[in-house]
Amino acid sequence: MLTVGTASAAPGERARGVIPVTNLPGGRPLEIPVIVINGSQPGPCVWVDAVIHGDEPEGTLACHLVNAELDPAAMRGSVVLVPVLNVPAYEAAQRGNPLDTFSYDLNRIYPGKADGYLTERLAFTHSQWLRDVATYEISIHSGGAHSYLSETIFATTDEKAIELAQAMGKDWGLILKSFLPKGSPPAVMYEAGKQGITVELGGRSATSPADFARCGRVLADGILNVLRHYEVIDGAPTYAPRWLTGVQHALLAPASGLFLAEPSLQFQQPMHKGDRIARIVDVYGDLLAEICAPVDGLIFGLRALPNVQTGDWCCFYAEIQGELAQV
Ligand SMILES: [Zn+2]
Repeated sequence: MLTVGTASAAPGERARGVIPVTNLPGGRPLEIPVIVINGSQPGPCVWVDAVIHGDEPEGTLACHLVNAELDPAAMRGSVVLVPVLNVPAYEAAQRGNPLDTFSYDLNRIYPGKADGYLTERLAFTHSQWLRDVATYEISIHSGGAHSYLSETIFATTDEKAIELAQAMGKDWGLILKSFLPKGSPPAVMYEAGKQGITVELGGRSATSPADFARCGRVLADGILNVLRHYEVIDGAPTYAPRWLTGVQHALLAPASGLFLAEPSLQFQQPMHKGDRIARIVDVYGDLLAEICAPVDGLIFGLRALPNVQTGDWCCFYAEIQGELAQV
């Protein structure tokens, strides 16, 4: 039997359930919904976490697509899908649970605390199951309410984490060094001597019907490709033609106003240091500031909401430091 919380699946079966955390003031339980898909043959457990941030529902759709396409009778190993990790944040469509200001950002507080603030307890309970059950973990994120992020992976630099990143397949050619080795579910995996990656796709400016469906599909295809790579399911995995590696520069707004990105900008196309990314203008249309490429590299994400305040996220820029060839 494979058990996560209240969900137990015998070999060749799937089950739904929850990981109980605590109760909310009105008496409703705070719990983490979970889908367990247990293969008929032994193999690794691939664990997928969606909606660590409540305004990033692309991962929920991806979990639904993956769940619909897996047949446990034909699997070697198992899959655990968490379609919504932070339910109160999801209900509020906000990054964190608005009722928990002390541990608001779930992706900064792992491994959590058994006797901590509300969301720290959620992180702690999730960490325990994740550490015990998962062989590999995929944390799904997007640009959320503020931004759009193109296909980007954050991984630690060890060989096995890079392999997991490469296993995402043909659409995922950008692998950046994990900017938060502490505080996230992949950090819990890392500390347990296992592998976890953060994958980013989607956000506010890609929620039209076709765009949102595409984000869910590309994420689901990546997860299915990981399952093929580790031979949990049958089929030939695909790989990106090559992988660019580097580090993230998060460019913050130098002024408040209207954020106007260059209309010709394209994601993941080479840029040179000093190339203009965007202008910020005041209410009369007069120029307040320009945002330019800090180094040679490429843009992998951009602010989606044109209204901007000083210090807001504006651009997710990758400084490219290397290239990995297909093995
Ligand atoms: Zn996120």
